[in-house]
Amino acid sequence: MAKPDSGLERGARYILRNSYEEMVRIRTKEIMSRMDMCCCEKCYLDVCALVLNQLQPRYVTTEKGSLIAKLPEMSKRKELEMTVLISRAAKMVRDHPSHDAKMARDNPNHDAKM
Ligand SMILES: [Zn+2]
Repeated sequence: MAKPDSGLERGARYILRNSYEEMVRIRTKEIMSRMDMCCCEKCYLDVCALVLNQLQPRYVTTEKGSLIAKLPEMSKRKELEMTVLISRAAKMVRDHPSHDAKMARDNPNHDAKM
């Protein structure tokens, strides 16, 4: 008897992607660059992680290798919610960076704006 081919095992043609992730990354970069804070990769990703953990994910199926999925339509309310979450997370990371504060002083490129 032939094994039913669900296609699941061959897979790898489509991937799951949280479509908010891309938006959070873009917005976070904007917001952090306006704040007086360390904008290194570590702090940036820390802020993104904090926000994405609080935001209800919105998964979409995307063809593997395709460029960034079309950004989802967002209501003004959702956009505002995201901005508030990012600002709050950025302040947390600014006040309590998870890397050594000394690193920021010693590494001249560390504070480079993105
Ligand atoms: Zn940093």
